[in-house]
Amino acid sequence: MTEDTLFSKIIRRELPADIVFQDERVTAFRDINPQAPTHILIIPNKVIPSVNDITPEDEGVLGHLFVVARQLAEQEGIAEDGYRLLVNCGRHANQEVFHLHMHLFGGRPLGWMVKPE
Ligand code: AMP
Repeated sequence: MTEDTLFSKIIRRELPADIVFQDERVTAFRDINPQAPTHILIIPNKVIPSVNDITPEDEGVLGHLFVVARQLAEQEGIAEDGYRLLVNCGRHANQEVFHLHMHLFGGRPLGWMVKPE
């Protein structure tokens, strides 16, 4: 069985979080340590630890993450200027929480996607 994460507790509202959207498939909440004026995490309610664990049956929920991201970008007023969607996977990407999550960043120019070494 896939392990429960701190994000599972946020989904079940056992841990406090600023939840901005929730339905039967996904939950979105503000990052506790925001890196931009808008920094929201959008996660499947089902625990998928990382991109490495995605299976074909996850296609529906993962497509839904993008639909919710687009809606939230509009709600946040950042759709027109642009924003960044980011998913970290594993050690080299510094993934900290092993419950797949899409970051939505916006509200200022975001610079290069990957910092040059
Ligand atoms: P990642 O490095 O892609 O795994 O990102 C994990 C993100 O989760 C970081 O941006 C953290 O600031 C954020 N985070 C960790 N704990 C919480 C929490 N309790 N509520 C909201 N965001 C959190």
